[in-house]
Amino acid sequence: MLKFPKYLDNIKPYLPGKPVEELQRELGLREVVKLASNENPFGCSLFVKKAIERSTTNINRYPDGGAYYLRKSLSEFLAVEPEQIIFGNGSNEIIDMIARVFLSDGREALFFEGSFVVYRLVSQIAGGKYREVPLECDFSRNLNRMLEEISDETSVIFIDNPCNPTGFANKKEEFHDFVRKLPDNVLLVIDEAYFEYAKGHGVPDGINYIRRINPDIPEKNIIVLRTFSKAYGLAGLRIGYGIAKKEIIQILEKVRQPFNTNYLAQIAAVEALKDQDFVNFSVEENEKGKELFYEEFEKRKIFYLPTYGNFIMFQVESSQQIYEELLKKGVIVRPAFGFDNFLRVSIGREEENIKFFKALDSLGYSCK
Ligand SMILES: *Cc1c(COP(=O)(O)O)cnc(C)c1O
Repeated sequence: MLKFPKYLDNIKPYLPGKPVEELQRELGLREVVKLASNENPFGCSLFVKKAIERSTTNINRYPDGGAYYLRKSLSEFLAVEPEQIIFGNGSNEIIDMIARVFLSDGREALFFEGSFVVYRLVSQIAGGKYREVPLECDFSRNLNRMLEEISDETSVIFIDNPCNPTGFANKKEEFHDFVRKLPDNVLLVIDEAYFEYAKGHGVPDGINYIRRINPDIPEKNIIVLRTFSKAYGLAGLRIGYGIAKKEIIQILEKVRQPFNTNYLAQIAAVEALKDQDFVNFSVEENEKGKELFYEEFEKRKIFYLPTYGNFIMFQVESSQQIYEELLKKGVIVRPAFGFDNFLRVSIGREEENIKFFKALDSLGYSCK
């Protein structure tokens, strides 16, 4: 008999959004709209595609384990030192590195109820513990409540700001206050996967805590996670990064695999950074899409949560049933993890959003 740790018994594998090809295969559908994984519906920058085409001759070589050029571009773009950056195979990999370093000896992670599911998964896999801090009844997050829950065993606090799937985000002032009161033996992970969509709406730029922009906020143990998977449209290439003071990066580097980010992803990310017009276009279109969703949900009296991301959580009578019926109509959404009878829909291109509402209407019970 093979032996493995007992704590792995409780782990349910992550259920990703259904891939388009799979649904086409299963149901013989030609036209499928995927609004399930918060991907950029406009693809990625054309410069990225051209750069990848130019670079395929080198894929027999290992990538640069230190990601020299990407590190240089990003450190200039973000105004941080190159040594304050760590790259991951998606920011998910950095979440995993954090858990392996800081939770493996049975220490505890804290996060809000209904946070990004990966926090729970990596905590369990690393052999750590976790506790969830309840949400307020309007699904908002009270950061003072998080402070009260910190115990001697707490090693890491994960906060996705904005939160996936609720779309909620804490604002600058309350976040500054929270950071001021944060104890020094805790690592705060601010997961800003949707930063490009949320900035400009009063949400903090977590990297400012590391740049020490506000001298009245003391230096704390913080890592900010960002990704090229969402607004930059590179989800399939798997590349994300973390920003922290050098001491924290050096600790995490101990568990990073030498060639964790691939050659094409590094090239793509350098080009993607240069094309901020594409990012701005994507964000503007997302704002328009958001308005369309709000209006259409309101017309149908469907309860939804206003969002700071590129996705919206909304209430239905039976989430599993409606999820499956929408699949049959060729529309892939996602049950919202941790929230019974809520679905999460990504904001797509206008015609995709319209197709979503047509499919929903054709089910006949959109109005509760
Ligand atoms: C999508 C997402 C990520 C990013 O994952 P990648 O591994 O970079 O693709 C991280 N955190 C949250 C909350 C997300 O929704």
